[in-house]
Amino acid sequence: ATPMAVLVATGAAARRGILFRGGDILEMTGRLTLVAFDKTGTLTLGRPRLTDVYPAHGSVDELLALAAQAECGSSHPLAQALVAEARRRRLDFTPAQNVRTLPGRGLEATTPQGSLRVGSEAFLRQAGIDIPPSTALEGATQVHVALDADYQGVILLEDALRPEAAACLQQLHTLGLSQALLTGDSPQAAQRLAAKLPLSSVHGGLSPADKAAWITAARAERERVLMVGDGINDAPALAAAQVGCAMVGGTDIALENSDLVLTRPDLGRLVEALLLARRARILIR
Ligand code: ADP
Ligand code: MG
Repeated sequence: ATPMAVLVATGAAARRGILFRGGDILEMTGRLTLVAFDKTGTLTLGRPRLTDVYPAHGSVDELLALAAQAECGSSHPLAQALVAEARRRRLDFTPAQNVRTLPGRGLEATTPQGSLRVGSEAFLRQAGIDIPPSTALEGATQVHVALDADYQGVILLEDALRPEAAACLQQLHTLGLSQALLTGDSPQAAQRLAAKLPLSSVHGGLSPADKAAWITAARAERERVLMVGDGINDAPALAAAQVGCAMVGGTDIALENSDLVLTRPDLGRLVEALLLARRARILIR
């Protein structure tokens, strides 16, 4: 039978919008050593705004319209910011056909003008596209655009840190947990965000599979890991952790893969979940 302390703790948690999927998860959450965070939508609000647009040739509007052709079918926060800006400017764009999503990298689409790629610097470079070096971009989230081998330019976006993030991470630090940032965004963007937070390690340029592999490696070193993500690309990492935690606002796929669901997008609920789980452990023993 389920111990009374587990029923009481999970019931109290549920009333606070903290859903443990079973007593084992509650138990493990009380014994964690490491919390791994996704960046976009988890540590940040997930509402990026455009800060700069640098067309390689042509106009700002042309570059935005080109990107919007591929992005208009995507639910990624970067896609939504780009498409919203294209609509705000009343740009004329036709949704591209055959859009392929490369999680953590970007999109590839077939258009009448050629093969369109929209995504990270690493993604375009791997496709053989030359990107002129620039230091102006350092630390911003970058979405690069190319048509066939022809580089079209870059759009810069910024996503604000959640207002509660610094205080929550400080509390987790005080509770003795190691904390890691795992993001597909560039190492520079990851470092810039991390400068304000008590993180033990910061990792940028990771694919969804890299994030999962990092967690598997941490577990091999006897860490007990909770991964918190908002989904989209985080399903493998959520599955690799002992406790996969989704904050709502996350996608359905993240919810299916998650052991712990926070029904409000508030990192304070994560701290509460941990404290509740620790208390329940003391009562069960
Ligand atoms: P995070 O790990 O912060 O959640 P993602 O893994 O979703 O970030 O994306 C990593 C990088 O890949 C982004 O910074 C961006 O350069 C690129 N990218 C991913 N998806 C898209 C998209 N739909 N459109 C444009 N760029 C994308
Ligand atoms: Mg993400």
